[in-house]
Amino acid sequence: MQERIVIVGGGAGGLELATMLGRKLGRKKKAKITLIDRNSTHLWKPLLHEVASGALDSRLAELDYRGQSAREGFQFLVGTLEAVNKDEKSIQLAAITDEQGHEVLAPRSIQYDRLILAIGSVTADFGTPGVSDHCYFLDSLRQADEFHEHLLNEFLRVNQSIEDGENTKLSLAIVGGGATGVELAAELIHSVSLLSIYGLSFLDQKHFEVRLVEAGKRLLPALPERLSAS
Ligand SMILES: Cc1cc2nc3c(=O)[nH]c(=O)nc-3n(C[C@H](O)[C@H](O)[C@H](O)COP(=O)(O)OP(=O)(O)OC[C@H]3O[C@@H](n4cnc5c(N)ncnc54)[C@H](O)[C@@H]3O)c2cc1C
Repeated sequence: MQERIVIVGGGAGGLELATMLGRKLGRKKKAKITLIDRNSTHLWKPLLHEVASGALDSRLAELDYRGQSAREGFQFLVGTLEAVNKDEKSIQLAAITDEQGHEVLAPRSIQYDRLILAIGSVTADFGTPGVSDHCYFLDSLRQADEFHEHLLNEFLRVNQSIEDGENTKLSLAIVGGGATGVELAAELIHSVSLLSIYGLSFLDQKHFEVRLVEAGKRLLPALPERLSAS
């Protein structure tokens, strides 16, 4: 029987691994490679700030796991990992439900010979009170989309109140002055400069304030000082 190699998580690591193993072993039937992810498509995470600001339509940059698996010799299953049973060498996937909560697929159990967990990480809030309740995080496409939706509504609201003669400002704080925070700030400022093209002609850069919060001595602490200064 072919060895069953199961990879959970189709992010930067898991997708690359499934593709390489698919080419090397899966196509030659030397092993059965299965990739599992809770989403059907992959988006390269460093693009999330562009989705959040509206600079990128994620549908243009997503990679469909099923298409990739058919090309590269691995199997793809959509599902969310819930439990690992090391003794039985099996993993448990949660039930899949539709938007109305109706069950599409019942919980499933998948057997493996080798298991690779590549489920990534999430932003740490270091237990700071209020953060998990009141902040947006940029760890997934869903979160980037939610932020973008909220931003568009805020643009509409503030544009209308300025048109109505109120002295309103839209202000936004970004926590973390690394590459993502700095790029997001720049993209947001840029997106406001384009609003008039889309009919929101009252909200401009003087009514928009972005604060970038960084604990270190300078922005972009991992990069040369010349870049931080710039
Ligand atoms: C906004 C942002 C910008 C970044 N910019 C850069 C950059 O410019 N350069 C750089 O080198 N790195 C950057 N990074 C870091 C880089 O994206 C990560 O280091 C990399 O994605 C980690 O790869 P991974 O495969 O370990 O996890 P991830 O890419 O996070 O993938 C994890 C996968 O597991 C899936 N998953 C999670 N839980 C489950 C579960 N229970 N069941 C099934 N599937 C699950 C997820 O859907 C996801 O597809 C950035 C990260 C972020 C968030």
